[in-house]
Amino acid sequence: GVSNQSTTSKLEDRLLSGLLSPEFDEQSCLSRYQSMLYHKISPHTPSPYLVSKLRSYEALHKRCGPNTPLFNKSVEQLRTNHSTDQLECNYVIWTPLGGLGNRMLTLASTFLYALLTNRVLLVDHATDFVDLFCEPFPGSSWVLPSNFPVGNLDSYDASSEKSYGYLLKYKLISEDPEARSDILPGFVFVNLESSYIWDVYDLYFFCDESQITLGKINWLLVKSDVYFLPGLFMLSTFDEELSLMFPSKETVFHHLGRYLFQPSNSVWKLALQYYHSYVAKANQVVGIQIRDFPWSLMSKENRFNQIMKCGLKENILQPIRDSSRKTRHLTEDQTGSKAILVISLYKDYYDRMKSFYASSTRLNRPVNVYQPTHEEAQQLKNLSHNEKALAEIYLLSFSDVMITSAWSTFGYVSYSIAGIKPWILLSSKVSKEVDPPCRQVRTLDPCFHVPPTINCKTKRRSKTNWVGPHIRQCEDVNEGVKLV
Ligand code: GDP
Repeated sequence: GVSNQSTTSKLEDRLLSGLLSPEFDEQSCLSRYQSMLYHKISPHTPSPYLVSKLRSYEALHKRCGPNTPLFNKSVEQLRTNHSTDQLECNYVIWTPLGGLGNRMLTLASTFLYALLTNRVLLVDHATDFVDLFCEPFPGSSWVLPSNFPVGNLDSYDASSEKSYGYLLKYKLISEDPEARSDILPGFVFVNLESSYIWDVYDLYFFCDESQITLGKINWLLVKSDVYFLPGLFMLSTFDEELSLMFPSKETVFHHLGRYLFQPSNSVWKLALQYYHSYVAKANQVVGIQIRDFPWSLMSKENRFNQIMKCGLKENILQPIRDSSRKTRHLTEDQTGSKAILVISLYKDYYDRMKSFYASSTRLNRPVNVYQPTHEEAQQLKNLSHNEKALAEIYLLSFSDVMITSAWSTFGYVSYSIAGIKPWILLSSKVSKEVDPPCRQVRTLDPCFHVPPTINCKTKRRSKTNWVGPHIRQCEDVNEGVKLV
């Protein structure tokens, strides 16, 4: 809970060691100034280089943002269908795909790409977003104006003629320095949707030569449903900048997520209302995020047993004394009263947990079980559903200890922003049982589920895993990799 933390030392660092800009109006976005009262103090401070990079990005965004003269100039250039090196402002547009967790991960990935390539990040379909998040860049907006001349941005896919992979495949652009044409299109779509691994030309994005070509394009559009950010660490083009920005690799999303994603006042109110009504009283809050994917073979009962097995084994949950057996008197939790926050689409787990601990009223310090909502089904375009989902991502991130679910980007975002290493409930695509039931993550950064399988020298697909000094296999997804 929040009570046992020294709020004074926290108040001194309202701007998270310079991560956040001092230029905002506090009332317009309360979460920006209040999040640190609810999160654990982060042991990770952003590097001075990252801080200065963010400040100069903000200046660039202000200069080039929507409806500025420089923006209008770049839009005019777009009408010629050609790229030019005469423009001061170049852009990367992000378009949404997948659930909220996926969106936050790909938006952060695209933002890092913008930082590395001196582009301005604009958000398409921001109507889904304006009520969820505050504007992250002072004195400007990240919303792509509705009169932008290229329409239906979310309909672009691998087969689009403006797709980079398509242009390469049909030799409409070349990366061969000899054959490289001076005339490049003004607008290119980069397909990073998870099925991109099936097309070697889309995978070229992760090779240095492509970054030279793409660097000359004035307008890029990125669509992805995977956390492709670790892939940027595989390119030598960005090596130097990345090591200056992130001396510690495991905190990339931790910092960028805290910087970019400030819940709007209405979402923040939802999260705090619940927190103060129920959870804040407890000395320890255990957040359990339970995500069931359609491919899972586990019944709800199997799954609940797995959660209990994990919680008891790792001393996160306490057992109930079985009075029929002469067990040692139950060791009361040293930390005092405990709240278990069940974050899930389903009520089922809450009911099971609640009845498991029903008898705990006999304990000196009872275990209380809470669940803020149970939406029962995933909905992608419903705003109030998304507001609840975001409020829950934050509520979960206020926990003291976390258990999250394998494969779930919803959980990744929450623990990485919180700066808490959770135990991940493992999942199997082939079995109803998993052993061990859970595993603690070694590092905070989210998992990149589909790393590019390309050998940039031969330009062929290759099976080699991208394991290197800062890249390891994920704890929960065998094919996935993460920054360490
Ligand atoms: P992932 O599918 O677990 O990787 O997470 P995403 O956030 O990308 O997509 C899942 C979507 O389902 C979310 O955006 C929510 O809309 C919804 N969802 C999943 N789990 C929960 C939950 O525990 N609470 C709420 N409110 N919504 C959830």
